[in-house]
Amino acid sequence: MRAWAVETPAPITSGPLRRVERDVPSPGPGELLVRVLACGVCRTDLHVAEGDLPVHLPGVTPGHEIVGEVVESGPGTLRSAGDRVGVAWLRGTCGACRFCRRGAENLCPQSVYTGWDAHGGYAEFALAVDAYAYPIPDELDDVRAAPLLCAGIIGYRALRRAAPPPGGRLGIWGFGGSAHLAAQIALAEGIEVHVFTRSPAARELALDLGATWAGDSLDTGPAPLDSAVIFAPAGTLVPAALERLDRGGTLAIAGIHLTDVPSLNYQRHLFQERQVRSVTANTRADGEEFLTLAARLNVSVTTRTYPLDEADRALADLAADRFTGAAVLQSRPERLA
Ligand SMILES: [Zn+2]
Ligand SMILES: [Zn+2]
Repeated sequence: MRAWAVETPAPITSGPLRRVERDVPSPGPGELLVRVLACGVCRTDLHVAEGDLPVHLPGVTPGHEIVGEVVESGPGTLRSAGDRVGVAWLRGTCGACRFCRRGAENLCPQSVYTGWDAHGGYAEFALAVDAYAYPIPDELDDVRAAPLLCAGIIGYRALRRAAPPPGGRLGIWGFGGSAHLAAQIALAEGIEVHVFTRSPAARELALDLGATWAGDSLDTGPAPLDSAVIFAPAGTLVPAALERLDRGGTLAIAGIHLTDVPSLNYQRHLFQERQVRSVTANTRADGEEFLTLAARLNVSVTTRTYPLDEADRALADLAADRFTGAAVLQSRPERLA
């Protein structure tokens, strides 16, 4: 099968992704072999390719927003050939540690991830772990469902971590794949949304989706915020967002990687019970909740599709902010012999 592999992590402009030919894997106990119908391109893939995240599996195939069709089920699985499943970032947890036992499996120290610890979806086929795969609601087609599996779920968790009060005002920094989905959930909940981004196209998309205001990353904005989420991987935005929070406001940082945060001033940035929170992956409950909500609210997903063979270009375009919304890879149907 055709697949992409990260041979040696390096800046995306130097081409760290290589096309490789691999055998189609066989599912072990609890695993499913899926034909990849669509795979979203996430910023975390860029961190894997560029080495911002340490290498966990040499030659890993990135991709953790997989919509796939089960072609073979390993022993002890509940799904069978023909089922459509979503394969996301969280691939497995121990189920026994104190975090798993208290419903915080996203914090499990033994957790493993798709497209980092195991090969992901930048390929024609991938192995999924049955217990961590999601059913995809019928209302969502393959391309539309793919970005929901990480961008969507993580954005949703970030929104919950930012905890905007009913009728409150939410600021969003960076308006790509994740943010444009989280914003729609917030808007559906009656939250007022303000978007801070340097991209004029993203500002336009934000206003089209119903944001009250959209401006540049360092603009003051029209009013103090109750909550904020930083989706851009830039630590310099942390003091900027904190300064725009009202008393008691909460800032959630959604990314897995952030450049250094400049020094904070207690009075200006934190006093009056402002809080900073990070977001670490998600639980399966977050995923199930979000996918159900996304189908019910009919969220609009702005996508840009690329053929599987152009995964390197898709990642480079993501790095250079050359599109709005989310990129999705599609492998052409396998040619039958
Ligand atoms: Zn655990
Ligand atoms: Zn992701």
